[in-house]
Amino acid sequence: MFVGHYSVAFAAKTERNKIPLWVLFIAVQFLDYIWATLVLLGIEKLRVIKGFTAGSMLDSYFHPYSHSLIAAIAWSGIAALVYYAICRRHACHYSTSAAVIVGVAVFSHWILDFIAHPRDLAIYDNTWKVGLGMWNYRDPEFALEIALLACGIILYLSRNVMPAWRKVAAIGFGVGLTIIQIGDTYVPRDALTDKATAMGVWIFYTLFVAVAFFLEKIGRRRQINAS
Ligand SMILES: [Zn+2]
Repeated sequence: MFVGHYSVAFAAKTERNKIPLWVLFIAVQFLDYIWATLVLLGIEKLRVIKGFTAGSMLDSYFHPYSHSLIAAIAWSGIAALVYYAICRRHACHYSTSAAVIVGVAVFSHWILDFIAHPRDLAIYDNTWKVGLGMWNYRDPEFALEIALLACGIILYLSRNVMPAWRKVAAIGFGVGLTIIQIGDTYVPRDALTDKATAMGVWIFYTLFVAVAFFLEKIGRRRQINAS
C-alpha cells in the first residue's frame, strides 16, 4: 500500500478535531518512517527484487520492529501519547480525542499493509507472518489505492470548512498522488538498493507532508479575518 494510506489522513481530519493534515500525513506513514530509518541503519532487512510481486518490488523479509502487529500497536500508543503531550503543552482543544485519532491513524497503516503485503507482516517478533497479498494482483490493488484516496479526499472536502481555492488544491493534490501511484505501479524501472529505497521513502513521504502543510495554509488568513 502506498498512496492509499493517505486516505485515512484525509478522512480523519474534521473541523471538530482540528488535527493538522500534515500531522495525520506523518501518522499514517509513521510505521514506514520507522521502517525506512531502521533499514538505513541496517537493523531491519529489505530486498528489492524486480517482479517480486505484480505491484511491488519490496521483499521486506525482516521488519519486526516497525511492522509486526505488536510493534504497530505499541507505536500507535506512543504516537497518541506524544500528540497528547504536545497538545497539552500548546493547550489545543479536544486533545484527548485528537490523540486517540492520531493513534488510530498510525495503526491504520498496519491494516492497509495487511491487505496489500504478501505474507511478510509478523504478529510478533519475526514469526506468524500474515498478509492478504493484494500486491499479487496489480490492477485491483491499484484500483483499491485510488478508490481509498478518492473517498478520503471526498470526506475531507465535505467535513471541513475551507475556501474554494483550498478545495481545488486538495483535489489537485489527489491527482498528483494518483500520478505518482501510476508511476510506482506501472512504469517499469530497475530495482534500487535497499538503502536507496529507504531514502526515497523518507524524501517522498516528507514531500507529501510539506504539501499537506501548505495546503492548509491556503486562504487561512482570510478565514481568520472572517471569523
Ligand atoms: Zn508499511
